[in-house]
Amino acid sequence: MFASVVLDIPTQSLDAAFTYAVPAEIEELDLIGRAVVVPFGPRRALGFVLDVFGEEDPRASELNPTKIKEIFEVASQSFFDSDGAACAQFMAHYYIAPLSSCVRLFTPPGGVPKVVQRKGAWVLEQPVIGEVDDRWATLGPKAEGFVPRKGSYKQEAVLAAVRKGDVRVAELTAEFGAVNSALSALEKKGVVRVENRRRMRGVSDASESSVFRVDIEKPQLNEEQQNALDVITAAFNRRSGEVVLVDGVTGSGKTEVYLRIIEEVLNQGKNAIVLVPEISLTPQTVARFRGRFGNQVAVMHSRMSQGERYDQWDFIRSGAARVVVGARSALFTPLPNVGAIIIDEEHEGSYKQDSQPRYHARDIACWQARRKGAVVVLGSATPSLEALHACEANAHWHQVTLKNRANQKPLPKIAVVDMAHEFNVGHKSMFSRPLIEALKNELSAGRKAVLMLNQRGFAKFLLCRDCGFVPTCDSCSTSLTYHENGGKIVCHHCGHTELAPAACSKCGSPYLKKFGAGTQRVEAELKALISGFGEDFSDVAIIRMDADTTKTKGAHQKLLEEFVQASRAVLLGTQMIAKGLDFDDVTLVGVINADTTLHLPDYRAGERTFDLIEQVAGRAGRADLPGRVIVQTYDATVPAIQAAKNYDRSLLLEDELPKRELLGYPPYVRMANILVWGEDESQVKAAAQELYIQLDQALGLLDREEVTVLPATPCVLSKLKKMHRWHIVLSCSPEYDLPGLLEPFFRSRKTSDSVRVSIDVDPQNLL
Ligand code: ADP
Ligand code: ZN
Ligand code: ZN
Repeated sequence: MFASVVLDIPTQSLDAAFTYAVPAEIEELDLIGRAVVVPFGPRRALGFVLDVFGEEDPRASELNPTKIKEIFEVASQSFFDSDGAACAQFMAHYYIAPLSSCVRLFTPPGGVPKVVQRKGAWVLEQPVIGEVDDRWATLGPKAEGFVPRKGSYKQEAVLAAVRKGDVRVAELTAEFGAVNSALSALEKKGVVRVENRRRMRGVSDASESSVFRVDIEKPQLNEEQQNALDVITAAFNRRSGEVVLVDGVTGSGKTEVYLRIIEEVLNQGKNAIVLVPEISLTPQTVARFRGRFGNQVAVMHSRMSQGERYDQWDFIRSGAARVVVGARSALFTPLPNVGAIIIDEEHEGSYKQDSQPRYHARDIACWQARRKGAVVVLGSATPSLEALHACEANAHWHQVTLKNRANQKPLPKIAVVDMAHEFNVGHKSMFSRPLIEALKNELSAGRKAVLMLNQRGFAKFLLCRDCGFVPTCDSCSTSLTYHENGGKIVCHHCGHTELAPAACSKCGSPYLKKFGAGTQRVEAELKALISGFGEDFSDVAIIRMDADTTKTKGAHQKLLEEFVQASRAVLLGTQMIAKGLDFDDVTLVGVINADTTLHLPDYRAGERTFDLIEQVAGRAGRADLPGRVIVQTYDATVPAIQAAKNYDRSLLLEDELPKRELLGYPPYVRMANILVWGEDESQVKAAAQELYIQLDQALGLLDREEVTVLPATPCVLSKLKKMHRWHIVLSCSPEYDLPGLLEPFFRSRKTSDSVRVSIDVDPQNLL
């Protein structure tokens, strides 16, 4: 018997699996998915078994029996099955990523052994993360009627405690001091038993927090929800990997639809995965699933400690978990019998991993579902243009619509304030007059507001305070980015550069503002504004939520609890507040600067702006009190803003789709963004330019009609974490096998330590 083994060494070229002979004594084991120790040249290495095959397999006849080496030892339980192995291989190919990095996605967090060299010998080192046991004392078979010998007080005390119920040895020790000899005396007589019980880390602190409201009652589905459920159920019953897009406004009861389909899936003996964007994976979300499915729910996300994640992983592997709620990594947990994969807020950028392998959870979910015959449910109030396009183009994609909020409340009215107008009439504050008035009204009435500062700190751009004009690139229709250094404006797509103008090229105004304010500054101005309202506003809580204030574990949660418990408050935050919050007494939502995403130098800028406004607007007026939304912008007439204001996606699509088709952007093309990065600017530049030439020479890119390639240019984020970054952007028709074309080139390419190259297939942005 033979095994194909991928070595646990992540390099792009060492991607293939190697074949090893399986020694007779381990042939009986189910080897797929296990870590094994194998000889590799003069050393030993850890690898993962992807597949096993016998002498009769055609692959066996190609082997040279004198060269084939044996697996040295088995190092772990099985981390994945043959579906997992196939998925990893698909990802390695499609994303042109090291196979070992794809396999690694399937291993338990921190739970993989290592092979290390010690005093000249290769040894297997087991991971430090693993199960933790508690010792419990419980009554033994001879307990009844047993009375300890007179004077053995410890035994008496311990026994009395155990008679009240099973108890941890640690608790006995805390109460009575050292109890070990008393316990072992009792154990010898068969009166008490001491056993190790598995402890699950972190579950209690991740569970329901009392300040959040959870409906455990099952509501009667409304007609729209019932229709959605019927479509999904039918797709699930066909077991052919179909996809249903639930296009439902905020608060339309999408989550309730998910809960019902999961119920059906469980009833049919299958299991379900629910993906939620990392940031909205709050106790509030988890509590809704636990409320319905109790302790069959496992949770997996990156804010948990390694130990907690290991325990959840192991709980899933044990077969006891039926529903996994988690961030994108939940796709790789060992949940058997997957019948449904649900992706909430499908449009979210965070479903794309931004390190190797740069996979998109939606695409991997669809791949897995096809293989397993499961249904994929995508939910969003603002579906991605990719998903909308796929519903039109593919027979196995279906779209269902929820137009109304589940509680029949209207969606909040969205008012757009023209900030150029505010400026022109002499109102220079970053808070417009309508926003100030609304804020004062709502706070006076004892209600709460959410203010969003749309922040992409890195990308500054010029904006005319008189007319709202922003310089854009003629050939790419993206905003030009302002560079402090040299006072230039640059297109980071095609490289076009010009000097920053002194006056607006549209209206001639000299008031060109360099856009990009931090939350701290806004917080300070907000405090000043509210204290200006008068003394009786001194109790208003101002809670700032951004990358800085949410760094520590649980901070995000604590800030939200503070907001819930305050009698009146303003929550000021970045994009992270736009999603998932469900608070009854929020009646006002303000978007301080819609322009930041609108002018992001990226083709998705309009789509993102629309998404963000609709999402954050959804936080207002969710319960009995009506809500309203105020969006501040210098560009009130653009389709993205108008579409959001009117809750009319067609206004966005009519504008966006023809542009994307004409300029060659997704969903009409497939792209690959080849990033070149390193510490030395001139080396990076030279390497990027050389790579461009090599790519053309090797693949004839410039002559290929199916592929468009743009010359190497600096990225928008030309310097990130001390690294200089250049890129080469490729695009082709969506059907064309771009990875198939690029993969051989990149696998055989020599890598360098000073300048690195990574490939982003289907990039979420080109920054
Ligand atoms: P979404 O996920 O679309 O934002 P939710 O599922 O969170 O919407 O539903 C919004 C609110 O409406 C929740 O409080 C939920 O309990 C409630 N809800 C959902 N479906 C119904 C229904 N059929 N009848 C009454 N209330 C419902
Ligand atoms: Zn350009
Ligand atoms: Zn102007």
